[in-house]
Amino acid sequence: MSDDVFLRVNDVSKWYGDEQVLDEVSFEMDRSDVTVLIGPSGSGKSTMLRCVNRLAEAQEGSITLDGEEVLSPDTDVDRLRREVGMVFQSFNLFAHLSALGNVALGPRRVLGLSAAEARERATSQLERVGLADQLESYPAELSGGQQQRVGIARALAMEPKLMLFDEPTSALDPELIGEVLEVMRALVDEGMTMLVVTHEMSFARAVADEVVFLDDGRVVERGPPEQLFERPEKERTGRFLERIA
Ligand code: ADP
Ligand code: MG
Repeated sequence: MSDDVFLRVNDVSKWYGDEQVLDEVSFEMDRSDVTVLIGPSGSGKSTMLRCVNRLAEAQEGSITLDGEEVLSPDTDVDRLRREVGMVFQSFNLFAHLSALGNVALGPRRVLGLSAAEARERATSQLERVGLADQLESYPAELSGGQQQRVGIARALAMEPKLMLFDEPTSALDPELIGEVLEVMRALVDEGMTMLVVTHEMSFARAVADEVVFLDDGRVVERGPPEQLFERPEKERTGRFLERIA
């Protein structure tokens, strides 16, 4: 079957025990698209992202990435996770490694680059996120915004074809949010395909091709940001947007 859609999430459902947390979720992304997932706490946003790289297992539905079925038992999950970068709210850096060490680890251990090649790649990714002068700093010596930029560089160092961001600025002091969003915007400009969970509505408005509103595991409504934000079709969407505005 020929399929030009880059990421197709089709009727994905997931339960934790008896609790259904995703209910026939569907959306599609083309290459270089930016899709922003919004919704209340507990609506299934993180679970949806985690199903894409198989950190969580969807029980029903289909997810195709670049023509391959992600949910197939035959899928090479290690390869999938190399190809899909993820940035977490809590950074998840190794405290005992420098910025350079954190970013070089995947290229060295997972991709098998030489130590010199891994250092070189990590250096260029840290430069890309504006941290050329912090290569040898340890996480504890960096601000939250700098740590998150290391987190982004670490994901980029694997040269992913899709980036997942799970509330990348939610743990940051307000004055540090901008520097992370700026790095993300630069990635958008470079054509990176990005699936982003965020409450930063001005970011979503500026860069999203599509916004997907999840509530209680269901897609309530999706559409381009100007439509979803200015003229939501569902009352529930309007109520949510008023609450977070
Ligand atoms: P969101 O990211 O939108 O806040 P989540 O995807 O984290 O939502 O959670 C959706 C629902 O799934 C919540 O009810 C949450 O308690 C539940 N949940 C998430 N992860 C687990 C887990 N590992 N085990 C059991 N329940 C979970
Ligand atoms: Mg979440």
